[in-house]
Amino acid sequence: MPIDSPAIPKVGFVSLGCPKALVDSEQILTQLRAEGYDTAKSYDGADLVIVNTCGFIDAAVQESLDAIGEALNENGKVIVTGCLGAKKDAQGDDIIQKVHPKVLAVTGPHALGEVMDAVHTHLPKPHAPFIDLVPAQGIKLTPKHYAYLKISEGCNHRCSFCIIPSMRGDLVSRPIADVMLEAENLFKAGVKELLVISQDTSAYGVDVKFRTGFWNGRPVKTHMTQLVGALGELASQYGAWVRLHYVYPYPHVDDVIPLMSDGSVVPYLDVPLQHAHPDVLKRMKRPANGEKNIERIQAWRKMCPDITIRSTFIAGFPGETEQEFQYLLDFLQEAQIDRLGCFAYSPVEGAAANDLADPVPEEVREERRARVMQLQETISRQRMQAKVGKTIRVLIDEVDRSGGGVGRSMADAPEIDGVVYVKAPYEPHLKLAAGEFVDVAVTAADAHDLWAKA
Ligand code: SF4
Repeated sequence: MPIDSPAIPKVGFVSLGCPKALVDSEQILTQLRAEGYDTAKSYDGADLVIVNTCGFIDAAVQESLDAIGEALNENGKVIVTGCLGAKKDAQGDDIIQKVHPKVLAVTGPHALGEVMDAVHTHLPKPHAPFIDLVPAQGIKLTPKHYAYLKISEGCNHRCSFCIIPSMRGDLVSRPIADVMLEAENLFKAGVKELLVISQDTSAYGVDVKFRTGFWNGRPVKTHMTQLVGALGELASQYGAWVRLHYVYPYPHVDDVIPLMSDGSVVPYLDVPLQHAHPDVLKRMKRPANGEKNIERIQAWRKMCPDITIRSTFIAGFPGETEQEFQYLLDFLQEAQIDRLGCFAYSPVEGAAANDLADPVPEEVREERRARVMQLQETISRQRMQAKVGKTIRVLIDEVDRSGGGVGRSMADAPEIDGVVYVKAPYEPHLKLAAGEFVDVAVTAADAHDLWAKA
């Protein structure tokens, strides 16, 4: 039975105020898009409206209050952020709540996390595993030290199980100067880890014929390798990490591996392979399906022995024979992928794969998924065990009352990979803090997580 593709929730946005407020608005809009929300051009096309206010002078206060009133009248579901949100009247009461008690939530300026929390509460987005760029759990922006940087929208491929191109259109790359400016603003705002996302990061710039843009007074091409080089340079200035997601294994990806070996970007590649057997890949119409992925992975590991490879796979794609599935298991055994997700195939309404012959029964799809995960459990356990005794750098996400913390190493993307549990340090100068890096010695491992001491 086809699964209905969930409707994309639309958010309307009214941005008032100075350039600082504008940057806040851009960050909220970027985050909304990264999480898969759409923006609405009119009040009645929106499921919810965010008003970013100004509270500087009386005229600006009035303009903001009028804008909130209009959004409430026209739409009804309104979240308010910005300077006026933090302002109180002479009696010490919140101005906005007093004038417009029906608003759903009010935050002050620079409150990306709080605004997104309010959006998640009042307009939760259904998760679609074949469509979403971010995990089902959503992005928790508390801690706020990592951010997603979306470099393009849409996709030029036509994978037969996917409806993204029909929903979001062909690839549209953001200008490289805009991407770099956003990255710089995020680092300036304290982001310690930037996660580069798109539908196909390797294809960045194809639509604009790799047009030359400018950043920092010098020409930079709208091309994946030049973008990664520039991001790596910027991240080094701020002592931050850059992590690449959704990279297809085209030959030019080899050029970013040296940037991983020299520490400019995190040695981590999220390469969604989906299958290994050439015939299944052809039926899936996957990009780069002619590439020799085993050789490519081995070459990457040779260039950068510390690289972590993450991938996702689909088990039970229409027509998948037991022999083709076994081919996938053999590939996984040889490839020794570090982090792996596997979905049992689900037909998405509108996808071309629904018309393929020989659909695999649901119980077989599930059973094959379980076999992939069982094999991966053994591979992961061994690979994680090999880290015991090593010293690794960890970005702390949370600190508990005992002074211990939970963080992530370069091998762990937030929400989708494992974590590192760090014991409370004995020495007071080694106090753990959320959003800070710490070097730790790994003391134990299971198939997903590590335990360590500072
Ligand atoms: S590469 Fe394939 S799966 Fe990914 S967005 Fe494009 S069409 Fe969909």
